[in-house]
Amino acid sequence: MKKILSLFMCIALIISLCSCSYSDIFNLYTDYDGELIVHFIDVGQGDCTLLESDNEFMLIDAGEAEYSATVCQYLENNRVKKLDYVVATHPHSDHCGGLTEVLNTFSCDNFITVETDQQTRSWLNVLDAVSKNDVNYIDAKVGATYSLGKSEFEILGPYSDNYDNYNDYSVVIKATFGSTSFLFTGDAERLAEHEMLDHGADVSADVLRVPHHGSSSSSSKEFLSAVSPTYGVISCGYQNDYGHPHKETLRSLSNIGVTTYRTDTLGTIVATTDGNNIEFFYENTDVKVETPDPVHYIGNKNSMKFHISSCSSVSDIKIENKVTFSSREDAIKKGYTPCKACDP
Ligand SMILES: [Zn+2]
Ligand SMILES: [Zn+2]
Repeated sequence: MKKILSLFMCIALIISLCSCSYSDIFNLYTDYDGELIVHFIDVGQGDCTLLESDNEFMLIDAGEAEYSATVCQYLENNRVKKLDYVVATHPHSDHCGGLTEVLNTFSCDNFITVETDQQTRSWLNVLDAVSKNDVNYIDAKVGATYSLGKSEFEILGPYSDNYDNYNDYSVVIKATFGSTSFLFTGDAERLAEHEMLDHGADVSADVLRVPHHGSSSSSSKEFLSAVSPTYGVISCGYQNDYGHPHKETLRSLSNIGVTTYRTDTLGTIVATTDGNNIEFFYENTDVKVETPDPVHYIGNKNSMKFHISSCSSVSDIKIENKVTFSSREDAIKKGYTPCKACDP
């Protein structure tokens, strides 16, 4: 009997330890009422973000259909009664799959997406749920702004209505509260990123939801430098088949000093802002997140190449040929080309 009792106690202890960090995340809610809270919900290889401000809620994507119960439970735990906005960034199942269940479970005011010719079952189910539940359908238009509680959000993309790749249709949203901002990019790839830059969109943000699960087909250096985030959040599955996040993306982020949070290692991530400061919390509290030192860029006047300071060829540059740049753009503007080895 004693043995059975201690076994029960062990199980109870394990359960309470496991749920500890999770309930810590929920407890934040009450502390941060009226401010902007962004929940990057862990849905494995997919994407799902909940924004809340002053009791208003917006859900951007909901992962694959198999995660819909997880998402609905998370919303319920966070006392979501009604979703003011539901955004489907683009019609891929790792983003829209779980939305059907969400739309059928929670009352939703507005549904924002872009029109495509996608005809998959999972996407048609989402559109059916939108019309069946009388949700107001909003075609995403660049420049449109909306309010969510005390925060605001603006649609920054997509610019075109005809892409070869559904990822480039991704609705890009910038949410602002006080002097802090968050950029949500869906799976936008380099083509869509460059369109935003070419149109002079103000993509600058403190927090970047790194596009396309950290794939190197997105996150061009020019785009990252224009966003110039302090924090990056990557949503991807643990040991996923795509190798997300790609090491090139992680390197580009660390080169510009971005502290990167990943759902595959940290679980659900919550960022809160009071309008000035942003704080991060996450489920797997035993994992440590490092802040990289921003790299310096060193040029060689002789070869007209530039490197990151840790590149092995920097030590071969003669002192009289060495030149330091404040940024990558600075080096390029002065006519230097990036070293192929360190890829600054
Ligand atoms: Zn995706
Ligand atoms: Zn996609």
